Amino acid sequence: MILGSVIGDTVGSIYEFHNHKSVDFPLFAPECEFTDDSIVTVAVAKWLVVDKQHTFEKLEECLVDMCTRYPDPMGAYGGGFERWVFHPEQLHTYDEKFPSKSPSGRHPYNSWGNGSAMRVSAVGWAFDTLQETLEIAKRSAEITHNHPEGIKGAQATAAAIFLARTGKSKQEIKDYITQTFGYDLTRTCDDIRPKYHFDGSCQGTVPEAMTAFFDSTDFESAIRLGVSLGGDTDTLVCITGGIAEAFYKKIPQAITDKILSMIPQEFKDILGEFNK
Ligand SMILES: [Mg+2]
Repeated sequence: MILGSVIGDTVGSIYEFHNHKSVDFPLFAPECEFTDDSIVTVAVAKWLVVDKQHTFEKLEECLVDMCTRYPDPMGAYGGGFERWVFHPEQLHTYDEKFPSKSPSGRHPYNSWGNGSAMRVSAVGWAFDTLQETLEIAKRSAEITHNHPEGIKGAQATAAAIFLARTGKSKQEIKDYITQTFGYDLTRTCDDIRPKYHFDGSCQGTVPEAMTAFFDSTDFESAIRLGVSLGGDTDTLVCITGGIAEAFYKKIPQAITDKILSMIPQEFKDILGEFNK
């Protein structure tokens, strides 16, 4: 669980600013690294492990602690999130409009960035009901990404993981996401690929990431299709990988072994705890 997101992030890492519009590439090029997507994904998993009340306060602590210890990932943190973690005093203009969700004074900044979707996969795995999944996904987003599209991106991604892991078909997942969130999932990867370019928004990343999953035949093909779309590749494929893992249930052992050799022991410990 969750490793699918970390794999997607890592495989996509080198294509974020140099899109590769083909499924044909070495899965783990030597330059690949996990990036901010994996760091915040592990932070959210830790939050769910250490805080059974799932409070904003503890969520903030987990995000800030993890990001502070991995301050300079490949591709960097998004601008707003970077300020939220490292320079929260610069968010003071949000004081009145968006009161802080936690005692520290860090304010949500009305983001619709895809950061809320890229960190949410653990929420898709953690709960017994779809309703609770949606609720906690919202909470995981709105500490920073309180714009409706930011919340929607997190909820849609977590819901897709929940539905996939509980045995729903691709058509059922597609219908639910379309009806509930209004994303256009009628396109294929071949429709999207020619004109798609970098888009850091939820609404310009999550539907595309889901399409890579819907068009895939197994975990690896989902990852490859995600990369082939281009765009904000590490984040897009992180989202695709999280859903694909939940649906296909199996990641090839060689891919699992490779990613485990590339991430810190701390990540493995947290994921181990989470998977219990
Ligand atoms: Mg990234």
